[in-house]
Amino acid sequence: MAITVVGSVAFDSIETPSGRRERCLGGAATHFSLAASFFTDVRVIAVVGEDFGPEQEAVFQARGIDTRGIERIAGKSFFWEGSYLENLNEAKTHATELNVFAAFEPKIPDAYRDSEFLFLANIDPVLQRRVREAMPDARLVAGDTMNYWIKDHRAALLEVLKGLDILLINDTETKMLAGNNNLVHAARAVMALGPHTLVVKHGEYGATAFFSSHSFSKKDAYEEHIFRAPALPLEEVVDPTGAGDSFAGGFFGYLASQTEITPATFRRAMFYGSVMGSFAVERFGTERLQQLTRQEIDDRFILFRELTHLD
Ligand code: AMP
Repeated sequence: MAITVVGSVAFDSIETPSGRRERCLGGAATHFSLAASFFTDVRVIAVVGEDFGPEQEAVFQARGIDTRGIERIAGKSFFWEGSYLENLNEAKTHATELNVFAAFEPKIPDAYRDSEFLFLANIDPVLQRRVREAMPDARLVAGDTMNYWIKDHRAALLEVLKGLDILLINDTETKMLAGNNNLVHAARAVMALGPHTLVVKHGEYGATAFFSSHSFSKKDAYEEHIFRAPALPLEEVVDPTGAGDSFAGGFFGYLASQTEITPATFRRAMFYGSVMGSFAVERFGTERLQQLTRQEIDDRFILFRELTHLD
């Protein structure tokens, strides 16, 4: 089943304790697509400027990602600059330049319209909502956001949440969105805003899914409220940028590759999310996902099972 994703396609300048990179290919939709492409067909909706050339396009092509929905216009691509010098779990944003995204009018290519899965990756909630409305037939809709939009674009974000089945955000953002410092209470409050399923990402500590009776294909299969997947303890986290989007790509990509969503497929999706996040942080930007193989993914999935198995 194909996934259509809308979100930032960007250039990132990143500083971590392992070093610095200037203007590498980034963006929420980029990291998401690369990760999801190991599981299913992916189609991207975004806008880029004249600085996005054949070298960047080739990264998508190499993974078979459909880029017909990436519009090219005059101007500069989205630019983000951040560092992780004090805390590898939370980026410190130094610059966010929307550039060509400021006036973007998303257009959905006809070839994308039969996508049953829709992912609204991190970008202005006004754009997320427009794409959601333009794809009313999507069977499962998931999304992400960040503090930047929660703080200053709350009303638009609340509208997006109403149209989501699954929201994936990190723990500090869950608490910020709910105005509650207890994760369980905050999760409940966020789910009351729309999504029937919430996946809370904890950076290097894994992710927790909160379910409701609507989370599965068969409503009577409901049997759990909370499931937590670990993250892989790594000796070196080179660059956390894109870990959350890679988690989302593995999670949603795996779900889209399954015929039915059951509690078991959901749990496995959480593990595939963690697997993809663990690879993403091993090198700067998209470098690791560009070189990844399906065999490495399967091997690491087994490693995750061993990490958590009791018997
Ligand atoms: P994450 O998975 O949370 O580490 O997301 C990292 C990506 O988000 C980077 O590649 C940035 O280009 C992108 N990004 C940063 N700020 C924003 C924003 N305000 N809106 C959309 N994308 C952003």
